[in-house]
Amino acid sequence: MSRVLLVTGASRGIGAATARLAAERGYSVCVNYLRNRDAAAGVVSGITSSGGRAVAVQADVAVEADVVRLFETCDRELGPLDALVNNAGILEARMRVDAMDAGRLQRVFATNVTGSFLCAREAVRRMSTTHGGKGGAIVNVSSGAAKMGSPGEFMDYAASKGAIDTFTIGLARELGEEGIRVNAVRPGFIHTDIHASGGEPNRIERVKSIVPMKRGGTVDEVAHAILWLLSDEASYTTGALIDVAGGK
Ligand code: NAP
Repeated sequence: MSRVLLVTGASRGIGAATARLAAERGYSVCVNYLRNRDAAAGVVSGITSSGGRAVAVQADVAVEADVVRLFETCDRELGPLDALVNNAGILEARMRVDAMDAGRLQRVFATNVTGSFLCAREAVRRMSTTHGGKGGAIVNVSSGAAKMGSPGEFMDYAASKGAIDTFTIGLARELGEEGIRVNAVRPGFIHTDIHASGGEPNRIERVKSIVPMKRGGTVDEVAHAILWLLSDEASYTTGALIDVAGGK
C-alpha cells in the first residue's frame, strides 16, 4: 500500500511541486485547492497519467467545516492518512503596518495560522498512536520572512510565519512519543505566483542581490526538502526548521 499524503494549496507553486514529487516517490496524494479547479485538475491528471493516485479536493483551510470535509474526503478516496504538508498560505499587497486594517490581518492569520492548526488537528486525530493511528509526519511551510520580519512590506505575513515556526517546535514536542514527526521548511524567494499577490510579480529580480547565491529558488528545490523531511531518511528529525533560501 502506498502512503497517503495530503498537501494543502497544491494546485500551484510549491504545493503543486510537492504533490508531483510525492507521487513520483509513490505517495497517493490529496491535492487541496481554494479556487483554481483547473490547476488542481491539471496536477491530478499529471499524476494519474503517470500511473500515480491523486484526488483534488476544494476546501478553504481557514474554514473549520471545510477542513473537516477535506480530511474526510481524503480518508474515503485514498485511505488512512500518513502525512500532511501544511502549505496553503497567502500574502496581500505590500504596505507598512500603519496602513493595515483588521480585515487584512484576519485573512492572513486565518489562512496561514488557523488553517495550519486546523489541518494539523485533523492529521493528529488520524495519525497519533494515542488516537489508535500508526504515526506519520507533518511538514509546515513557513518562510524566511519569519526571521526577517518583512519591514515595509508584509509584516503580518512574516509574523504569521513566526507563529508557524513556534507551532512546529511545540507540536513536535507535544507529539514526540506519539509517532508523528513535525518539521518546517523556510523557503526564501521562490519563483511562484505569490509575488503577484503582493502586487510585484517581478519581486525576485529586485531582491535577489541580497541572497548569497544571487538567485531565487525553484519550487522543486523546496519540494525536495519537504519530501526528505517526510521520508524515513529523516526518522530522527523533528522540530527542525530547515532554511531553503540560498543562504539568506
Ligand atoms: P502560490 O503560488 O500563491 O499558491 C498558493 C496555493 O495555496 C494555491 O494552490 C492556492 O489555491 C492555495 N490557497 C490559498 N489560500 C488557500 C486557502 N485558504 N485554502 C486552501 N488553499 C489555499 O503560493 P506559493 O508561493 O507556492 O506558496 C506556498 C507556501 O509557501 C505558502 O505558505 C507561502 O507562504 C510559502 N512561501 C512561499 C515563498 C515564495 O517565495 N514563493 C517563500 C516563502 C514561503 P488556488 O490555486 O485555488 O488559489
